Amino acid sequence: MPIYKAPVEDVQFLLADVFQVGRYDNLPGFADASSDVTAAILGEAAKLCEQVLAPLNRVGDVEGCTRHDDGRVTTPTGFREAFRQYAEGGWMGVSAPAEFGGQGLPATLTVAVNEMLVSANMAFAMYPGLTQGAIAAFIQHGTPEQKATYLPKMIEGRWTGTMNLTEPHCGTDLGLIRSKAVKQSDGSYRISGTKIFISAGEHDLAENIVHLVLARTEGASAGIRGLSLFVVPKFLGHADGSLGARNAVSCGSIEEKMGIHGNATCVMNYDGATGWLIGEEQRGINAMFTMMNEARLAVGVQGLALSEVAYQNAAAYAKDRLQGRALAGAKFPDRAADPIIVHPDVRRVLMSIRAFNEAARALVVWTALRSDVAHRSGDGEARAAADDHMGLLTPVIKGVLTDQGFANTVLAQQIYGGHGYIAEHGMEQFVRDARIAMMYEGANGIQALDLVGRKLPKDGGRALQAFLKELQGYIKEHGDDAMKPYVGPLAVALGHLQQATMWLMQNAPAKPDDAGAGATDYMHLFGLVALGHMWCRIAEAANGKLAAGDGDAVRMTAKLVTARFFFERMLPATATHLAGIQAGAASTMELPAEAF
Ligand SMILES: Cc1cc2nc3c(=O)[nH]c(=O)nc-3n(C[C@H](O)[C@H](O)[C@H](O)COP(=O)(O)OP(=O)(O)OC[C@H]3O[C@@H](n4cnc5c(N)ncnc54)[C@H](O)[C@@H]3O)c2cc1C
Repeated sequence: MPIYKAPVEDVQFLLADVFQVGRYDNLPGFADASSDVTAAILGEAAKLCEQVLAPLNRVGDVEGCTRHDDGRVTTPTGFREAFRQYAEGGWMGVSAPAEFGGQGLPATLTVAVNEMLVSANMAFAMYPGLTQGAIAAFIQHGTPEQKATYLPKMIEGRWTGTMNLTEPHCGTDLGLIRSKAVKQSDGSYRISGTKIFISAGEHDLAENIVHLVLARTEGASAGIRGLSLFVVPKFLGHADGSLGARNAVSCGSIEEKMGIHGNATCVMNYDGATGWLIGEEQRGINAMFTMMNEARLAVGVQGLALSEVAYQNAAAYAKDRLQGRALAGAKFPDRAADPIIVHPDVRRVLMSIRAFNEAARALVVWTALRSDVAHRSGDGEARAAADDHMGLLTPVIKGVLTDQGFANTVLAQQIYGGHGYIAEHGMEQFVRDARIAMMYEGANGIQALDLVGRKLPKDGGRALQAFLKELQGYIKEHGDDAMKPYVGPLAVALGHLQQATMWLMQNAPAKPDDAGAGATDYMHLFGLVALGHMWCRIAEAANGKLAAGDGDAVRMTAKLVTARFFFERMLPATATHLAGIQAGAASTMELPAEAF
């Protein structure tokens, strides 16, 4: 069975040493998250993940979910009990507002815990993950009554949430949505239509399921701007809060799919179901964006989480599996062969995965801290700057972390040779589970277009300018000998990002296909620069701890070596991405469609 050890120490190092989380104590909830409290929460989360959820990962994969003739859906053996433990442990509401039953702690902590949940059991983690997205939508866009009705029960984990966008004929192009909402005299709406691929759409984990549904009201304009968002509970409620009649929403079938078998992916039929508007009519996409942004960051974390668990298993296997001899002579002459970790090519794979994972975790924590500033700061300017950062980094985190996260699960599987292809080792499940993260929540090609087409030009390029300025400032302030091996290559990569941005600004307005053809290269170039920045900050903190003789010298030295690997072996790929962007769209677009 695969192993998993939650990266508690690494998260604590990032919070305390790299990002000095104490500096955020002026934000609500941060002063309560002392290092002791944080350690206790991460430690408890680790226990839940390692001891309860990870052992169910394969069970969920093998059993999958079952739809019964009466429309009920049951989850794999053990999921109900695990969800009960999750809910009773208060995990759903770690960062939710205290007035609705949450603990009000930083969202950054929830993000760190969510990485662990996904590494342990991605299919399981999606049930609470979607609920947290729905909670965020209610907090930002719900009426006081909706908040009072839904938030306490969802935060308690008695009710779960879903997100209903996709229809058979539209996933990316939501402007084509056909689901209809007809207003009733009591202010409610009748919702009709079919939604497909709805994660956690029906299951047996919670008393009620709260569906958030995009639909079009009568007479609303065509396209994406005519959409409204509705809440459609599975069970309607009585005034006293108890559950009432079954609503006219049902699961028509569940999909057979490549991975995440333990999560029910449902066709949901709305047959005149009763729903209520969230926010304003024809402003649904704005409300849905709240959920989608949260969800996109969460999906980026899925890429990291699967890369992490795949790495841990590959590293353990490489130390154990005996094959061949080290190139420079036997390392273990008394054994039949050396463990494969002596081979440079095996090392190359392990180093490249860990160099990604540690920086990606830092990028996620850094962005989560900005999300806390964006939602909690009393300073309007700080909030706006943090919001810009989030907007810019969301497609990068979603696209780069899931593309690379999937690639890393394949690399880790390769360490097992043919055994990686055999189910009992669990490596092929990581590959299958990781694959969807590149597709849902907006396929990664769409993330790249969002970055290049929307986020770069937004507000006259304000977010990008702030990002570039921050990195330039960092490089300037850290030119000392200790930091030169890291900031030197970062400066080169940053130059590539600036050249790529300039090239797109000069060419894309007249030739939009140039932007489209270079968007994925640009997203990955951006991602590498962001990860390089993170490695600089990790190296700076590790240097500091080593100089002070404070902490684990072996771990800190390993950080510096891994940083060097990243700068020597991975960051230079920015030059390739730049060349791809500057090649433009000509050869990409020249062949007629019939030539394919
Ligand atoms: C397991 C699973 C769970 C899911 N969970 C949910 C859920 O909970 N709720 C929900 O609403 N949906 C969910 N989805 C749906 C998912 O979000 C969509 O599948 C995804 O957004 C892509 O839409 P599509 O499949 O219709 O692909 P399409 O929109 O048909 O896109 C096909 C390809 O064309 C590309 N493409 C499309 N338009 C453009 C363009 N303008 N420019 C460049 N390239 C383009 C895309 O990048 C993609 O590669 C889930 C899907 C799966 C498989």
